[in-house]
Amino acid sequence: MNTPTTVNCPTCETAVEWSAASTYRPFCSERCKLIDLGEWVSENHRIPGEELPPEALQLQDKDQGHY
Ligand SMILES: [Zn+2]
Repeated sequence: MNTPTTVNCPTCETAVEWSAASTYRPFCSERCKLIDLGEWVSENHRIPGEELPPEALQLQDKDQGHY
């Protein structure tokens, strides 16, 4: 049996295979990793003009078709 372990991306909840190929695990992509980091960083360091509503980020993901 060789069932790959998957985790859900903390940012967008896409299933991510837990393997060396998934560079940004547990995130599905660098974008989601940066978003997650940005959320806690923003508590101390507000970056004007960098915030997007979650819906907009989801749409951008689909446009790039990175699944
Ligand atoms: Zn993600």
